[in-house]
Amino acid sequence: MSAPSPPRVWAEIDGCAVRRNLEVGRSMAGRADIMAVVKADAYGHGLEAVAEMLRHSGVSFFGVANVGEARRLRAAGVQTRVFLLGATWSGEREEVVANGWIPCISSVDEAIAYDTTARHQGRMLDVHLAVDTGMGRGGFLPEEIPSVFPVLEKLGNLEFGGICSHLACADTDPAFTERQLGRFREAIGMLGGPERFRWRHVMNSAGLLGYDGSPCNLLRMGLMMYGVSPLPAFQEKLSAAMSLKSRVILVHEPPPDGGRPGRTDAPRRRLALVGAGYGDGYPARAGGNGGEVWIKGKRFPISGRIAIDHLTVDVTTGPLITEGDEVELFGEHVPVAEVAGNAGTIPWEILTGIAPWVERVYR
Ligand SMILES: *Cc1c(COP(=O)(O)O)cnc(C)c1O
Repeated sequence: MSAPSPPRVWAEIDGCAVRRNLEVGRSMAGRADIMAVVKADAYGHGLEAVAEMLRHSGVSFFGVANVGEARRLRAAGVQTRVFLLGATWSGEREEVVANGWIPCISSVDEAIAYDTTARHQGRMLDVHLAVDTGMGRGGFLPEEIPSVFPVLEKLGNLEFGGICSHLACADTDPAFTERQLGRFREAIGMLGGPERFRWRHVMNSAGLLGYDGSPCNLLRMGLMMYGVSPLPAFQEKLSAAMSLKSRVILVHEPPPDGGRPGRTDAPRRRLALVGAGYGDGYPARAGGNGGEVWIKGKRFPISGRIAIDHLTVDVTTGPLITEGDEVELFGEHVPVAEVAGNAGTIPWEILTGIAPWVERVYR
């Protein structure tokens, strides 16, 4: 007989927070529609689960990174339009067309290939024209659009229902972002104005929070839907959707300086061993830089190096911490953006880096 073990590390996911954040975005978006960005397993929150949370929330599109994620949405019975944020392999085009997934088009060759595939299948394919306004990840340059678009428009089985671009650094570089937005507006102007395209989209979370989005009527909401603001000024409007949690496994008071003679006068510290480490996706570098966790209503500092499966917290002062106490590594009380800052990285990387074996517990 083995006794049941309580989980050592898990991620609590709050569906109400996701929906609340979506509404915050919607209220700031004027009359624009929403594309819920669910790539990278919905930023680690679970693709199918987030799609289910949003079933009745009126989002107009789901944005995925690749065909594999589009398949998972289809298998989950999702009826909402699916937009492919990234380029697809040429071998995937038949499947894209057959399912009516919406690709963004970055080259004439790609457009011709999709058109041919669609004609063979006897279908019309809705596609969006990608414009490279400075990101450099694909799309037509605004200068080449006037000569290229007439060619694309003649392809009989493609319907250019949208135009899009992607902001490279709306969270860090306002001047560059304004330039990108200007180029996007210019491109739309060259093609006959906003009315030419049913869908016009360039805004991600930081774009929505920090910039005027006209003439966009669709915004692609990722990070902020999960409760993390790429611009700190807006963080208090949002609620963390994921809390990474663990437990205290052992509390001990090691002899000062590892028990070497002559140092026994130093005050003893109480240390709590917590059952999560960088192997679970908590960043190793968040430790030595003022990283803290939340236990029993108080923040405690991480002590020493973070291990694969453990981290140590100094609980010398404050409420008495004992084995089994729940620990929040990030979430409601310790913003994931703070953990990312301590680790010298960005919150997107922390959320998407939580290991797949960390159980997601939905509330
Ligand atoms: C990931 C992604 C987004 C969402 O960005 P956030 O900053 O997380 O809101 C929007 N557009 C594209 C093209 C993306 O790849």
